[in-house]
Amino acid sequence: MKKTSYWLSAALLISPASAWSQEEVEIKVQQLTEHVYMLEGRGGNIGLSIGDDGVFMIDDQYAPLTPAILDAIGKLTDKPVKFVLNTHWHADHTGGNENLGNAGAIIVAHDKVRERMSTEQFRKLIGGRTPPSPEAAWPTVTFNDRISFFMNDDEIQAFHIAPAHTDTDSFIYFSSADVLHMGDIFFNKRFPFIDVDLGGSVDGTIRAANLALDITTEKTKIIPGHGPLANREDLIDYRDILLTVRNSVAELIHEENTLEQVLAAQLTESLNETWNWNFINGDTLVSVIYADLTREQDAADNETE
Ligand SMILES: [Zn+2]
Repeated sequence: MKKTSYWLSAALLISPASAWSQEEVEIKVQQLTEHVYMLEGRGGNIGLSIGDDGVFMIDDQYAPLTPAILDAIGKLTDKPVKFVLNTHWHADHTGGNENLGNAGAIIVAHDKVRERMSTEQFRKLIGGRTPPSPEAAWPTVTFNDRISFFMNDDEIQAFHIAPAHTDTDSFIYFSSADVLHMGDIFFNKRFPFIDVDLGGSVDGTIRAANLALDITTEKTKIIPGHGPLANREDLIDYRDILLTVRNSVAELIHEENTLEQVLAAQLTESLNETWNWNFINGDTLVSVIYADLTREQDAADNETE
């Protein structure tokens, strides 16, 4: 398959901070419940539990933002960040690990987050290598299925969902607060990137979205990996769009269309104006779905050559 610009642009999103210029980034703070907050800056959305037991943090964006993030947290509490939990291994969610670990936080994530961060990663489709993160950024506590934290009058439950956006993802549910952080399994009001090169799966992402719908109610506040704070209706919209585009691409593949022909069909045309963002557009999504659904076919073709 040809390397095209939408792959390169997708690669920028998940690259270290060197990919963007260090202009002033404002950290936006939103209080969701008595103890739970959402922070937006640049990179993946941050979830926080703040209370007498200290600060529990989900994801930490890029390393250059750590001082601004800690400054924002310092306006809410004088307690330290005790734990940082990574929803998955991508650099726009783990870039601050080293700084926060050095400041005394314990970095926690699924086993595979540590595995991917500690070794070089290669993407065949995007065509890029991601070097290992510095050792100080690797999670020091890992889990293989689920883990709970009892803090700030809440049980904070993390559970592994795979394959989805990657093969390293977790959902984190604040059970008393009824807030769910979905990491990059959910992009709200914008097209998602699904890392099908490195263990992600379009069908797995749809299954994970359905699971999230099973465990939430209309009252649940949902923090997406990217995009504004969401509710169940937003998640249903996202799931429906993924499913519709996925099924249309599958049908065109079944009719033996090439990627270029599938792209020419403009399957996301009516959504592009509202769902295109930053680096990711409808063509990126269609290309990811095409690559994912034709993978087995490619492998079979290679075997017969
Ligand atoms: Zn990601």
